[in-house]
Amino acid sequence: MVVLKGAAVSAVIREQVSEMLTDLGGQVPKLAIVRVGEKPDDMSYERGAIKKMENFGLRVQSYVYPEEISDEAFKAEFAKINEDPDVTGILLLRPLPKQICEKDIEQMIDPEKDLDGISPVNIAKVFAGDSTGFAPCTAEAVIEVLKANQIPIEGKRVTIVGRSMVVGKPLSMLMVKENATVTICHTRTKDLKGTCRNAEILVAAAGRAKMLNQEYVGQDAVVIDVGINVDENGKLCGDVDYDSIQELASMATPVPGGVGAVTTAVLAKHLVQAAQRRLQR
Ligand code: NAP
Repeated sequence: MVVLKGAAVSAVIREQVSEMLTDLGGQVPKLAIVRVGEKPDDMSYERGAIKKMENFGLRVQSYVYPEEISDEAFKAEFAKINEDPDVTGILLLRPLPKQICEKDIEQMIDPEKDLDGISPVNIAKVFAGDSTGFAPCTAEAVIEVLKANQIPIEGKRVTIVGRSMVVGKPLSMLMVKENATVTICHTRTKDLKGTCRNAEILVAAAGRAKMLNQEYVGQDAVVIDVGINVDENGKLCGDVDYDSIQELASMATPVPGGVGAVTTAVLAKHLVQAAQRRLQR
């Protein structure tokens, strides 16, 4: 089984970003990371994103608010960032605490700065196959992994386990755009094992540690593991039981070191695209 490492894909995207930066006439785009509270998952993602932006030669600033900030106060702060001409793009770490209406923020965020595709405008574009918007970075990262490794998507049977708005649903649309034949699975899917085994490309985005073992993987399938979980020993792991599929899968992404590293690279690419689009306007 070939291991599809995220670092190699990230390096390909870094080259693309460097080229795109030369067209910006010395302007260095700035990412605003917006975090409410001190959740370890958010802070870990934030650290990874900061490191990636710095590594790609981009500016980044964190905007951190207390967990108990009111809906009104947060919206006022968010509006300032949204309107700040020095901020090229925004990454909002979610879910937000429940006193803040996330739906309102999705409506509020400037679609041109919405690098992680949470605005209804960007979601509509993903579903319409219109590439002038921003898809959620994780969904796009899966496509980048396949393309950077020259894995054909067109005409392939693709099964995605998970139907969230962050991964499963937008990814299914990106796959359709690439002319794949897509099946989406979820907790009500009847023959999950059989449906997964039938896939030529299997994408795991269920958020269930090591759930997909050898019974779910067809011979020579390409397996992309989006899951980020903690196993019974407190170690980071994916949705795929990696060791059990070695003899079956032709290729697979590891966790850690797979899709996660590519997600922040896609975020960087979106940031530079946002700057390019602003310049064109
Ligand atoms: P989510 O919102 O919890 O959605 C999980 C989806 O998986 C749901 O559609 C759920 O079905 C389905 N599912 C859960 N258990 C299942 C089972 N036993 N059988 C079949 N389907 C099942 O999760 P998410 O936000 O999409 O994230 C998924 C995973 O990706 C998580 O591990 C998360 O940490 C990870 N993630 C990684 C990145 C990255 O950069 N690599 C980014 C975002 C998320 P129902 O709809 O029926 O409930």
